[in-house]
Amino acid sequence: MVVNKLIIAYSDEPTLALEALSAARSIASKASLKVGAVSIKPDPEWVKELAAHGADAIYQVEDGVQDVKSVDAQLDMLLAVAEQTKPEAVFIGGSRRGRELAPRLSARLGSACAADCISFDVDDSGRILSTRMVYGGASNIVLAAKVKPLVASIRPKTFEKPQRDDSRKAEVISVKAKIGEPKVRIISIIGAEKGSVNLRSSPVIVTAGRGVKKREDLAIVEELSNAVGGVLAGTRPLVEDLKWLPKERQVGLSGETVKPNLYIAVGVSGQIHHVVGMKDSRIIVAINTDERAPIFQVCDYGIVGDLYQVVPELTKAFKTLLNKS
Ligand SMILES: Cc1cc2nc3c(=O)[nH]c(=O)nc-3n(C[C@H](O)[C@H](O)[C@H](O)COP(=O)(O)OP(=O)(O)OC[C@H]3O[C@@H](n4cnc5c(N)ncnc54)[C@H](O)[C@@H]3O)c2cc1C
Repeated sequence: MVVNKLIIAYSDEPTLALEALSAARSIASKASLKVGAVSIKPDPEWVKELAAHGADAIYQVEDGVQDVKSVDAQLDMLLAVAEQTKPEAVFIGGSRRGRELAPRLSARLGSACAADCISFDVDDSGRILSTRMVYGGASNIVLAAKVKPLVASIRPKTFEKPQRDDSRKAEVISVKAKIGEPKVRIISIIGAEKGSVNLRSSPVIVTAGRGVKKREDLAIVEELSNAVGGVLAGTRPLVEDLKWLPKERQVGLSGETVKPNLYIAVGVSGQIHHVVGMKDSRIIVAINTDERAPIFQVCDYGIVGDLYQVVPELTKAFKTLLNKS
């Protein structure tokens, strides 16, 4: 068995960097790999975080990084780390930035890219296998890269943050990188609209589906969401077709992948494209008039009933319950 080969984990979003580390750790011992993390700035606190969450080594680019926010600078930086360390794989957190970085890095390295991976394994010959969804989440495929390093982007929220161990130490290694001029220039930054949300970090989500008949009826679902301290989300028909909610509030294959403690689906049928985005929620509650709706196959608690009757009752009950405590 070969020891001390390397797998690199990276994202410029802290949560996704830890998820990428978790993905790397999931196969590290099986493949006898050390785990390296890349830190874009010399921040001792962040270095400690990376070590505590499973990095064996942390690569820091020495100098010359003026604009680490630009994707081109991050690409040059990752390229320098990969060229210096010759890793078996590079795992990149699947933010929009990460989904751009992974294919560009693999092209620069002349290697293989696997996008939006949900799990990894190692076969008997030590090859890293990556799994991703196909057919809108109805099936998975397993990929084996024919060339190294495998560059993989990780689907957000599919790996838990690794367990913290403050006694872990990591070696900090400097890397010389040649950071070129960015090939794109930011000409303006438009702030998020007032009331914008980050579904991925919301512990409670209440999602409205097509069972809601009119736009103004969303208020009924929103009231339930407020009563349970949640965030209102929607299925694709409500977001993309009807435009009742902004895109950032869409859950599912072409929206956000979420993993809240509580997910309440109101008038949502539970088609696969929606379910892939919420099935890993801790507790799922579904309210639907159709007892054969697929959402009932993934929920922990199902209420067969008309949302226009059930939701106000539930809201009342939650308000009473939560006000009492
Ligand atoms: C490539 C692709 C990507 C997609 N991405 C996404 C995605 O990211 N997110 C997403 O959500 N969808 C996505 N879809 C669409 C998805 O396949 C479904 O069409 C969609 O999720 C259905 O939304 P829905 O459950 O709101 O509506 P419907 O399927 O129409 O279901 C409405 C449900 O409400 C119930 N109902 C009706 N009246 C009431 C009532 N009064 N009380 C209670 N229940 C009631 C009905 O029984 C029904 O089950 C995608 C599709 C494709 C092809």
